[in-house]
Amino acid sequence: ATILQLEGVGMRYGATPALHDIDLRLTAGSFHFVVGPSGAGKTSLLRLLSLSHPPAEGKLVLFGRDVAKLDQEELAAVRRRIGVVFQDLRLLDHLSAFDNVALPLRINGASDEQISTSVSQMLTWLGLGDVLERRPAELSMGQRQLVAVGRAVMCRPSLLLADEPTSSIDQAKAQRLMHLFLSLSRLGTAVLFVTHAEQLVRRYPFPVLSMKDGRLRPPVPSVLPMSA
Ligand code: ADP
Ligand code: ADP
Repeated sequence: ATILQLEGVGMRYGATPALHDIDLRLTAGSFHFVVGPSGAGKTSLLRLLSLSHPPAEGKLVLFGRDVAKLDQEELAAVRRRIGVVFQDLRLLDHLSAFDNVALPLRINGASDEQISTSVSQMLTWLGLGDVLERRPAELSMGQRQLVAVGRAVMCRPSLLLADEPTSSIDQAKAQRLMHLFLSLSRLGTAVLFVTHAEQLVRRYPFPVLSMKDGRLRPPVPSVLPMSA
């Protein structure tokens, strides 16, 4: 099934163009890395796909719905199917790690018992079992990143957008995150993973979407060796 489709999409910050003529189709269960130099438009692409910033032109279809035709309530429903790890994380400062991760489950109406079990399991698996009650300011940057990942995946999103989620964590933790993302993609989540971590990109046989100057290049087939 098609999760998202972009046709000729452009995006601007005020008058300044940031993305040009993007065509992209993602199917359920697909996994793509997104790479490119700083300023290439990777974060802008995720802002566009997470419905944080509107397209300036072109067509954006998510879960079969043309986003331009949706009202506020329908947009909110679409957003709830998207898990996002923002580069700036956007954790809620006044909530504990546990409550940050629990938030999407609470919004979806899960019971306290379900929440208690699944959030504790997730945070323990991420190595945060000892810091459940700490607020973001009391966590390391890497721990905060893991909390943001936990929150993004907790509701098993149909689309997962992760903006450099491993930039502040060690290799072993990065492998754990990959495990988590891979198991989600096996369950049908389409995953877009923005990263500068070349060792991750090389280790996994997934297609690489390469961006430059606000444009998306055709994906490099994963069977070919990557050139620099
Ligand atoms: P990347 O994530 O690949 O580093 P970005 O998407 O952050 O690239 O940036 C793409 C272009 O858009 C850059 O020229 C950047 O300066 C510009 N840009 C990014 N965010 C904003 C913003 N909030 N306001 C104005 N310009 C922005
Ligand atoms: P990054 O690419 O590191 O994610 P962001 O795009 O999030 O950076 O931008 C960081 C901050 O700088 C934001 O507050 C954004 O509004 C601002 N910014 C980035 N690029 C520009 C730009 N070209 N013009 C104006 N503001 C920008």
